[in-house]
Amino acid sequence: MPNVKVDLAERSYDIVIEEGALENIDQLIKPLKLGEKIFLITDKSVGKLYSNDLKKKLKKAGYDVIKISLKPGEHLKSFVNIVKLCNKILNHKPDRNSTIMALGGGVIGDLSGFAASIVMRGINFIQIPTTLLSQVDSSVGGKTGINTNAGKNLIGSFYQPKLVVIDPTTLKSLSDREYYCGYVEALKYALIDNPEFFEYLEKNKAKVKKRDLETLKEIIKISCESKARIVAEDERESGKRALLNLGHTFAHSFEKETEFSDVLKHGEAVAIGIILALKLSYKLGFSPKEDIGKVEKHFKYFDIPICPKEILYEWNKSNILENMYLDKKAVSNHLVFILLNGIGKSFISRNVDDHNILDFINDVL
Ligand code: NAD
Ligand code: MG
Repeated sequence: MPNVKVDLAERSYDIVIEEGALENIDQLIKPLKLGEKIFLITDKSVGKLYSNDLKKKLKKAGYDVIKISLKPGEHLKSFVNIVKLCNKILNHKPDRNSTIMALGGGVIGDLSGFAASIVMRGINFIQIPTTLLSQVDSSVGGKTGINTNAGKNLIGSFYQPKLVVIDPTTLKSLSDREYYCGYVEALKYALIDNPEFFEYLEKNKAKVKKRDLETLKEIIKISCESKARIVAEDERESGKRALLNLGHTFAHSFEKETEFSDVLKHGEAVAIGIILALKLSYKLGFSPKEDIGKVEKHFKYFDIPICPKEILYEWNKSNILENMYLDKKAVSNHLVFILLNGIGKSFISRNVDDHNILDFINDVL
């Protein structure tokens, strides 16, 4: 059973990655000595597939399970919905030993984690991520939050779960588009600091396409280990954690331009952002040219977009740079880019000249 440990002193926890883990949930949570009440929070699509069996298992093990099933979508991460959710939970009189269990993708994880951090100043939190994105990224590291009119994820907290349970078989029911969006975030770890992982993904790409469970388990494990390692060094993103934003400065700007609509999903924007980060790195004399081609070819194999021109949208060039400055990752009006000296060799750069970026954006759009 591959377990990944997230090492954060008294807030340390395990990530269990196991086929059929959901059927074992009672055994997996037993050592945590949770209170009787479990708030099982899910969205209706995921709930339909996986919540009934889970609830049954938990009830059989003696827990009082209160299921809250919400209409899926990014809209859930709002002030209105966090208030509704907290009120629902409070109506059932939780105590300090009660637990919020998030069953779903990153939306359910972020919303439920935020609720867990503020209900009674913090109750137990367990994540059961069911999208590839949430299994390799959002369920690790303790960021929770909601969106506001001012931007995405601007209200939230750092709140670590007590346990993360990943059952890769849940990925079989995921749409192709969601699956590859998650895959891009996994590949990101290879580019950040793990060239051997890139080789592994190259070698196993046919298996990735087939959603082979052994391959997925390995990908999830390596990804969680990578993120756990970086988070353990820099939990609150004052330094190294910024490497996880590889491709994201560009991505957020494109997503803002398309108003976070279905025209461009986050993972697709990150794929394009990763290629642009490689191209910018090459233009500035860092990355070798052949590494751009290698990653482009890899994405193309899965039909993942690699260029803004592939997206059916009239890009407004001047907005793209402006959006980057508005991004919360711009520090004191300086753009922060994660650049690469090649595959597996990323670094943080705060001194890319605006003119260079403007020229570059003019070239690629
Ligand atoms: P999501 O939670 O909206 O899930 C995507 C869709 O897939 C939903 O419609 C959902 O119902 C469906 N779904 C989920 N699991 C399924 C399954 N097994 N089978 C079939 N359908 C399934 O989206 P996501 O991509 O998982 O997460 C995106 C969110 O994660 C964003 O809000 C983003 O801000 C957040 N995020 C957070 C962090 C963090 O560190 N906290 C990191 C990255 C992203
Ligand atoms: Mg991301």
